[in-house]
Amino acid sequence: MVSPLEVRVREPKVCGSCQTHDCLHGNARQRGCELYLFQPKKAGNFDCTFCLDCVHACPSDNVGILATLPGRAFGRLARLDVAALVLLLVFGAFVNASAMTVPVIQWMNEWQARLGFASRAPMVAAFYFVGLLIPLVLVCVLSRPRWRDPGITFALTLVPLGFSMWIAHFWFHYLTAWSAIVPAAGRVLNRSFQFTSPGMQAPAWWPPAEILLLDAGLLWTLYLGWQLAHRTERALNFFIPWATVAVLLFGAGLWILFQPMQMRGMLMS
Ligand code: SF4
Ligand code: SF4
Repeated sequence: MVSPLEVRVREPKVCGSCQTHDCLHGNARQRGCELYLFQPKKAGNFDCTFCLDCVHACPSDNVGILATLPGRAFGRLARLDVAALVLLLVFGAFVNASAMTVPVIQWMNEWQARLGFASRAPMVAAFYFVGLLIPLVLVCVLSRPRWRDPGITFALTLVPLGFSMWIAHFWFHYLTAWSAIVPAAGRVLNRSFQFTSPGMQAPAWWPPAEILLLDAGLLWTLYLGWQLAHRTERALNFFIPWATVAVLLFGAGLWILFQPMQMRGMLMS
């Protein structure tokens, strides 16, 4: 999406008089685009594999790899599949982080003991499955014609909130585990370094910074949502449901950030 190059038509006027559309259908000597991308309508590199079949199929030599402004096609991402991916990644940020908090892990352990499983893996899988059902339900709602167009665009406005949650969570890991690079390098080099672990405490300034990040994500999401809602006739009808989803996610994020973390896959867990 941010490539400075793009497979696209050199001269749109030439396509206007084209009768065969070989770039899409192919011809006797060259197959057309197997991703069903029609060159005159194609925008950006989304779905394009750069296989160059269309370049060879066009009888007018009107398709090439041309320079483009990186990110030029971001505005055309209002598609159901993109919205589904965005919802998965946004909700995934919260589900993934919550699955590392002590209360959720204790809850999983209790259910593991109650159901008699030897490993915690089925509980982790069930937790992720249930957590990611919400975006699945939202995608089903969005696939209804009545909700589709505005809904898809509103789903994209959740990106800043999801991004801020991923950043807050990952930076917690980086700040608490950066020193692991020393023993890891020792293992790669097959040497043992003298090393005293500084412990796994995040610096004191980090919790307020995490909350600030999440605040910024929420405000940006609400701002984008409000801008979008203003373009419709019933602004509040569109804005309120999506703003509610964003605020609920924000609340969940705050709860997660205040919980003690217990990282999976560590010896102590
Ligand atoms: S890219 Fe080539 S084959 Fe495709 S519509 Fe344009 S002129 Fe026709
Ligand atoms: S490069 Fe390949 S995938 Fe991309 S538009 Fe052309 S034929 Fe389709």
